[in-house]
Amino acid sequence: MPDVLYDIIIVGGGPAGLGAALYTSRDRYRTLILEKMIPGGQIFNTDRIENYPGIPRIDGPSLVDQMQKQVESFGTEIKTGSEVTDLKRMEDGRIEVRCHEDRYIARAVVLAPGSSYRKLGVPGEEEFRNAGAGVSYCGTCDGPFFRDKEVVSVGGGNTAIEETLHLAKYASKVTLVHRRNEFRADKILVEEMLAKVGEPDSNLVIHYDSVVTAIQGEGRVQSVRLKNVKTGSEEDYPCDGAFIFVGMVPNTGFLSGIVDLTEQGFIRCDSAYLRTSMPGVFVAGDCRVGATMQLITAVADGVNTAMMIKQYFRDPQWWKRAAASVGETVGW
Ligand SMILES: Cc1cc2nc3c(=O)[nH]c(=O)nc-3n(C[C@H](O)[C@H](O)[C@H](O)COP(=O)(O)OP(=O)(O)OC[C@H]3O[C@@H](n4cnc5c(N)ncnc54)[C@H](O)[C@@H]3O)c2cc1C
Repeated sequence: MPDVLYDIIIVGGGPAGLGAALYTSRDRYRTLILEKMIPGGQIFNTDRIENYPGIPRIDGPSLVDQMQKQVESFGTEIKTGSEVTDLKRMEDGRIEVRCHEDRYIARAVVLAPGSSYRKLGVPGEEEFRNAGAGVSYCGTCDGPFFRDKEVVSVGGGNTAIEETLHLAKYASKVTLVHRRNEFRADKILVEEMLAKVGEPDSNLVIHYDSVVTAIQGEGRVQSVRLKNVKTGSEEDYPCDGAFIFVGMVPNTGFLSGIVDLTEQGFIRCDSAYLRTSMPGVFVAGDCRVGATMQLITAVADGVNTAMMIKQYFRDPQWWKRAAASVGETVGW
């Protein structure tokens, strides 16, 4: 069968991929999304989103449904159940994309395979996994749903501390559970948090040398099981929610040795144009270095790649240009 040539192939049908597809297909570029499961990505799993401009409140599946219909109305093809396994730049500059045995060719590729939250792997975590039931991995997204409630947050890095401080703006009490007695987060953040803990009537408490071994409740989170790793003592700790901030794992295993990745597996790119180390291959969303892990920034990344692809199609030599200096007009 002769190869079908696409202008753009997008790897991953989450918000970043759908954002890119909206612009490329509306610009009449032949666009294919290869999605290993069904479209939507992480946002499909939430029952409430309140921080997407213009939409006061919506559940993930409804938003995804609208995004999918919108890109399809402009001609984007979406192949579900299509896991991308390999990528190669051919001699003529086009990119070959493989999904196991299937082969597709494109003039440019957007990598948008996203990331997954690292799990604690304790009983109850899966059962209560969504903000409505009480387990969340994003304080920025779900903190406002816990106004005047008591929550536990878990972790010791920058994200854990930033998100714990954010939660303290809403919750009546936030208990940070940390497995060590020192934080690996930036000193300035740790100092800010410790100052807040020291305030009179502070709603922030830290449990050092402790881990959560179970998340418990009837229908929704009512307590976590805490274990002190030094003494071995355990207790049931009442709370309305458990926020887990123990890292993100980018879905980029298949790209190892193909494009440059950070030690943690995030795709390296230039922050201005989102170009990866492989000419013709761009990156968008939670899988890239410096991602802010939000719905709207993932969509915005996708849109930015679509705009940059036009530059690249107009003049492939553009790829070699250094990122625009401040004030330079990129010009489309
Ligand atoms: C429960 C939950 C609630 C959230 N709530 C909010 C919120 O309220 N507000 C907010 O701003 N953000 C929220 N977020 C974060 C937001 O969902 C993410 O920042 C956003 O989805 C990232 O989009 P993405 O397209 O980069 O990646 P993803 O959403 O991770 O999508 C990546 C897609 O790529 C596919 N894929 C992966 N590997 C391959 C491969 N090899 N081949 C083909 N396809 C592949 C995946 O199946 C997935 O569909 C939430 C996240 C979760 C988990």
